[in-house]
Amino acid sequence: MAFLDIQHLEKSFGPTRVVKDFNLDIEKGEFVSFLGPSGCGKTTVLRMVAGFETPTSGAIRIDGREVTGLAANRRNIGMVFQSYALFPNLTVAENIGFGLKVAREGKAATARRVGEMLDLIGLPQLGGRYPFQLSGGQQQRVALARALAPRPQVLLLDEPLSALDAKVRISLRDEIRRIQRDLGITAIFVTHDQEEALSISDRVVVTHRGVADQVGTPFEIYNRPATRFVAQFVGTLNLLDADVLDATTGKVRLGGVPVALDQPLNGRPGERISLAMRPESVELGRSDCDRVVLSGEIAAVHFLGSVIRIKVAVAGQFVSLDTFNQPDRPPPSVGTTVEVSLPHRDLLVL
Ligand code: ADP
Ligand code: MG
Repeated sequence: MAFLDIQHLEKSFGPTRVVKDFNLDIEKGEFVSFLGPSGCGKTTVLRMVAGFETPTSGAIRIDGREVTGLAANRRNIGMVFQSYALFPNLTVAENIGFGLKVAREGKAATARRVGEMLDLIGLPQLGGRYPFQLSGGQQQRVALARALAPRPQVLLLDEPLSALDAKVRISLRDEIRRIQRDLGITAIFVTHDQEEALSISDRVVVTHRGVADQVGTPFEIYNRPATRFVAQFVGTLNLLDADVLDATTGKVRLGGVPVALDQPLNGRPGERISLAMRPESVELGRSDCDRVVLSGEIAAVHFLGSVIRIKVAVAGQFVSLDTFNQPDRPPPSVGTTVEVSLPHRDLLVL
């Protein structure tokens, strides 16, 4: 059985159902992210796991034990919030030791554990400081140490990086992952940032209107989106109109060109469908037999740094493509006539 098992979890506030039949199995030591737009119920699920919110129905088990009706302080869970929520009148060491004091750990054991935690978060010298004397990133490390000090079975992190600036966000995200791996602790990490979720998770749960739309590895979520919502929310996507020619053989017309897809489709001849493709699958030029070649005109060039995103107008629609920056070759300019090619096998039918 899974280490953390969520079954048919539902939550309504008054007449509004904000979590709907949410199911998830998490293995021991796994790092799972909830990824979704704001307001889709991520925090509510996390708060039910933590015991701060009572489910309307459904069950939560941790390590084989049903915890659904258990008070938060009996669940052995550590939690980190977006707002660091440190006690302002306590030192860093007192903050980290707070949970141990509540659990009536002895003074010596507490001091030892606080020292270990300060080392773990890389701030061994700062135990005597107060929160206001720390940067945002340091405060969030202390919040993490405070959550981990009582040796919880599960660590819950609710958008812990959202209040930090970009550089700190990336370094702390890697550090959270390193600490989680070192301790082998089971973790749920909530974020609305797809890059964050894809870059550090074993698995990602894409949530949408209170439902888990898709659960999978970052690779699966990005390359094989199960729903239109997942496809559009995660990463950038070209959505292209095509007309069905023959559904059983998967033949469509795209940008005036007949294309044989690898898969059968639904739809009558002449019916319009949407095909999706990631910008990195599209190339400038390159005609070979397993690619659709379309001609168009460059409508926009976005220099993003290591990647250049080029938007091409093709037969009344736009196709975006990504190329890597090459320092000795400036990107083509707007208005240039080009051919773009799309590999058949990467066209997704949505
Ligand atoms: P997320 O964390 O994904 O942004 P939340 O779980 O915080 O989403 O909220 C989901 C929905 O539930 C939102 O529409 C929010 O307004 C509503 N909600 C959350 N908590 C309460 C509450 N205590 N009372 C009423 N509505 C709530
Ligand atoms: Mg939230």
